[in-house]
Amino acid sequence: MPATGKTTDRYSKSRQAFTRARAVMPGGVSSPVRAFQAVGGQPVFVKSAQGAVVTDLDGHNYYDYILSYGPLILGHAAEHVLAAVSKTARKGTSFGMPTELETELAELIISALPAVARIRFVSSGTEATMSAIRLARAFTGRPGIIKCTGCYHGHSDALLVQAGSGATTLGVPSSPGVPPAITSHTLLVPFNDLEAVERVLTQTSGGTSGGGGVAAMIVEPIAGNMGTVPPAAGYLAGLRSLCDRHGALLIFDEVMSGFRVAWGGAQNLYGIQPDLTCLGKTIGGGLPCAAYGGRADIMQLVAPEGPVYQAGTLSGNPLAMAAGLATLESLQDPAAYARLEQAAASLEAGLKEAALAVGVPLTVQRVGSMITPFFSPDPVRNYEEALKCDTRTFGAFFQALLDRGIMVPPSQFETWFLSTAHDQGVMDATLSAVKEAFAQLAAVQ
Ligand SMILES: *Cc1c(COP(=O)(O)O)cnc(C)c1O
Repeated sequence: MPATGKTTDRYSKSRQAFTRARAVMPGGVSSPVRAFQAVGGQPVFVKSAQGAVVTDLDGHNYYDYILSYGPLILGHAAEHVLAAVSKTARKGTSFGMPTELETELAELIISALPAVARIRFVSSGTEATMSAIRLARAFTGRPGIIKCTGCYHGHSDALLVQAGSGATTLGVPSSPGVPPAITSHTLLVPFNDLEAVERVLTQTSGGTSGGGGVAAMIVEPIAGNMGTVPPAAGYLAGLRSLCDRHGALLIFDEVMSGFRVAWGGAQNLYGIQPDLTCLGKTIGGGLPCAAYGGRADIMQLVAPEGPVYQAGTLSGNPLAMAAGLATLESLQDPAAYARLEQAAASLEAGLKEAALAVGVPLTVQRVGSMITPFFSPDPVRNYEEALKCDTRTFGAFFQALLDRGIMVPPSQFETWFLSTAHDQGVMDATLSAVKEAFAQLAAVQ
């Protein structure tokens, strides 16, 4: 890995590319986090990637902990995934007619998830959660949705709500362009707070707020979009019984955690069965693929079997199915998760040690190969606590790592990911850069 000193034009080709991109695309990017705004920088443009390494336009190599924000659990350009995709592509890239690849991937996912009896493929996590919500509302005949502050479930209107503090509030849209009428049925609670969920469920069934009752609670069983925040002991089981008691469905949004933290996902890791599950990211192996699935009596309402409409021109796309199958087949080997655990545990230990050595307050939170170092002396259990982190120091840490050939997500509130390509050599090199970066932080302070 290059570890050369910072020169003014170290990222010159990326800077030029960014200027050109900004003239034709809002912010120069296709998704906001890619603009590096949260760390006050300019984005690095990618030329290519292989295994654990991504290469930028200026020719610098980085060990990559973004990994496309989660999908690439086998690393970049895994040989057998590429082979499956190109073999499939030669037979045509999209048909608008069913293929056996969809059934194969559906069977494999269902075999991994006891709570999923039927599944519908879509192209993005946003579609999966949006469709699961529609289905839950249709099944229960109720309008209300409970979501946690700081959990991200894609950018559909009803779910684009996270404002509010510890107190339960009626949903206020997080974005202009979302009419309050649409988010008025979205009820917010803090993550890891069962009492707040109980309060909302009790109030809405009495018709005092929200009106008409709660169709579903949607939750990331391991929160990953405020940084990695594991569920407190008993939290998921508590949600399960609260939902049951109030006739609401429990939706696990496992778009990030599904097949990432364990074979199947968080529901297998913690042994809690949701009514509906949303998947994405890993199940597409780096191609656009997501899904929602669950109990047969609920899923039978989905068109054309039932009346709940949902469709997609590229849904179940054969290239995405092939990439997903090749990826999941590799993950069926339990050694894959053992390797991820080992690498991630060594990253966790090394981050803690390096921060301690220079006296920077750091709390590292991890489940399997999802990990976030929070620049906070205290554990982070919800969004409010995440917001207390020292994001300025995170920004400096990010830049120090970038300059040393380590690519981590450009925000304190993102999860870092590892792949099976992150071997001991990669971890050793990463941790020596981490040590240097912390030393640099301490020197500046
Ligand atoms: C990434 C993510 C989504 C959105 O998926 P897209 O494919 O980006 O639309 C939804 N939920 C969770 C938990 C995610 O991590």
